[in-house]
Amino acid sequence: MMTVKLYETDAYTRAFEATVLTCEEHKKGFAVVLDRTAFFPAGGGQAADGGTLGDTAVRDVQIKEGIITHYTDRPLTVGDTVTAAIDWNTRYERMQQHTGEHLVSGLIHRTFGYDNVGFHMSDTVVTLDVSGPLTAEELADIELRANRAVYENKAVFATYPTPEELETLDYRSKLELSHGVRLVTIEDYDLCACCAPHVKHTGEIGLIKLLSAVPYKGGTRIEMLSGLPALRDYITLHDASREMMRLLSAPRDKVAEFVTRDHDAMSALKADNARLLDELAMARFTTEATAKGSVGFTAGAGFDGMKQCLDAMGGEGAVFSDNGDGTWRYILASEQEDRRPLTKAMNEALGGKGGGKPNFTQGSVTAAKDEILAFFNR
Ligand SMILES: [Zn+2]
Repeated sequence: MMTVKLYETDAYTRAFEATVLTCEEHKKGFAVVLDRTAFFPAGGGQAADGGTLGDTAVRDVQIKEGIITHYTDRPLTVGDTVTAAIDWNTRYERMQQHTGEHLVSGLIHRTFGYDNVGFHMSDTVVTLDVSGPLTAEELADIELRANRAVYENKAVFATYPTPEELETLDYRSKLELSHGVRLVTIEDYDLCACCAPHVKHTGEIGLIKLLSAVPYKGGTRIEMLSGLPALRDYITLHDASREMMRLLSAPRDKVAEFVTRDHDAMSALKADNARLLDELAMARFTTEATAKGSVGFTAGAGFDGMKQCLDAMGGEGAVFSDNGDGTWRYILASEQEDRRPLTKAMNEALGGKGGGKPNFTQGSVTAAKDEILAFFNR
């Protein structure tokens, strides 16, 4: 018992009728085997088709020893004829993506002799691994030639050569097969063993875009998109780019240049701002003599600004900087004395936290200036 694979003979079968051969309860719902199916089962890097069998949804499709099992939500009656429909929009996009990948892999094979050693198609990207290194220029050339092959609208078709015929053919294949090999031809461009559905002419692939390429296991891992997924990606990028052009008042070919310019300007402003805040901290700095030594006060200072204030006190004493929210940042320093017992007592008295080394502690307290002074005069 083998399921007749309608998707192998006509990839454009989106609805069909079939007879239910078996239906068994299964942890995924119900396992249904039909005499024929257009549902492509998961395999070779491509996910299973979704769709419906009668009025139940198909959640997964798997193939084992030529038998294709559909996993459905509800049971079907053995012997019944059911009308089935596959989720055509998703399937067609996968056909575009898959045929686009053949074209790119075929061009790389014919130009550089590299093999395709990995393939995976997710909902968002197609990943392919080839067996040798490629430069950015080489990849740009492949991309351009792949798109030209789309405009040439070459025929794409499947054949089933005999083992004798196969020996005379130079075709791409991940496996050493000789029995019942299905060869997918892209006229003038590629010959590859594959069981998945493809579009009939390269024109249907639409836009082909290589997104990225990184060295991977001595070869190259390429991410790419074809067809509607490539168009959707273009729309997403175009919307983002148009918004950046508006925000930056930049022409479309200078967005990155303008972002770099603004980024550099921002870094310079941040450095200026930190320096000015430290200068302001020094300008605001006042000190008071207390029973526990000099205590300095400032506001809005960062660590560097507070260190400058401490230096102005000869490196000995306490510096408090007002955060403007009822809390103060502090540093306590002494060359001779261990400041940790004082820090601990202050944290307890003034709702603070922090600590550090014997001659240098830092942290924050939640208190009024009067309360800080009262603690140091206690
Ligand atoms: Zn294929």
